[in-house]
Amino acid sequence: MSVPPSSDDLAAALRAGDRRGLARALTLVESTRADHRAAAERLVEALLPATGAATRLGVSGPPGAGKSTFIERFGLDGLRRGRRIAVLAIDPAAKRGGGAILGDKTRMAELGRAPGAFIRPSPGGAALGGVARRTRESILLCEAAGFDTVIVETVGAGQSETAVAEMTDMFLLVLPPAAGDELQGLKRGIIELADLVLITKADGALAEHARHAVADYANALRLIRPSTPGWETPVRAISALTGDGVAALWDDVARFRATLEASGAWARRRAEQARAALLTEIGDGLLAQFRGAPAVAAHFPGIERDVMAGERTAADGARALLALYRPSRRKRR
Ligand code: GDP
Repeated sequence: MSVPPSSDDLAAALRAGDRRGLARALTLVESTRADHRAAAERLVEALLPATGAATRLGVSGPPGAGKSTFIERFGLDGLRRGRRIAVLAIDPAAKRGGGAILGDKTRMAELGRAPGAFIRPSPGGAALGGVARRTRESILLCEAAGFDTVIVETVGAGQSETAVAEMTDMFLLVLPPAAGDELQGLKRGIIELADLVLITKADGALAEHARHAVADYANALRLIRPSTPGWETPVRAISALTGDGVAALWDDVARFRATLEASGAWARRRAEQARAALLTEIGDGLLAQFRGAPAVAAHFPGIERDVMAGERTAADGARALLALYRPSRRKRR
């Protein structure tokens, strides 16, 4: 894709439900090239009126918990219920062409072949800020293409969960059947984000462990502030292998949406997320302009080095650089 495709053509193809059109549009929003970026922004803007109707689900959990096996089963159940499902798998830590998500081509193979579903692995390799922006835009593209459920999956790698929770309506935390204190590396804060906790692999020899884990997490959740006011976070034992408990989760999702819509919290959350995205874009834009200003660029490496070596405080370094900064008044387009 060297010449940016016409936004009008892409918008039309995408709204007509053309999957290749959607795939090309996603590639465009993933690109960091300046001309692609401008085309991507025009495209997302043109499609904005066709967005917003889908239920946006964030799915996270530690590697190996069973996220992709669950999403495949859940997705296939959803298709049977008439849902149209897009899955965006993001992994900020993944190297281009490698990593957990892209490397394993067999993930969600059956769902990927189903006509009502669309799966998009993230190319990875970008800073979290870049991942967040393109995922926000990718969600909008999937909605404009007619998907009524957009699942954003992230590998449990720290900050990315918070980013995903901030761009979805409902956050599903997928955990293996082990007690909370056995789950190394699982940050307590992540449980506080959950609107639905799923204990996977509740089958065979692990069924008993799963039951205990459900009781543990239900107890733990009673002690913390609910992620969404007016919603009590359920803890469910499921098996993606046998399918037990999976189809019924669609009822939890529907109940969640209905509850929040009735109280106005659904629209409020979306509005708050849009405001936060606006501030993030402003922050990113200002920082890029700042670093691009010639006087700043000339002194940045030296000051950065001094701060990193502990020879200068961060506050003093920032003050010196800010004093060098004269914003340009040139318009971008
Ligand atoms: P992810 O890294 O969180 O996406 O985990 P995967 O979905 O790749 O699953 C990790 C491993 O757990 C795989 O070997 C799966 O076959 C297995 N697994 C996933 N779900 C279940 C389940 O419901 N029951 C059992 N017994 N194994 C499961």
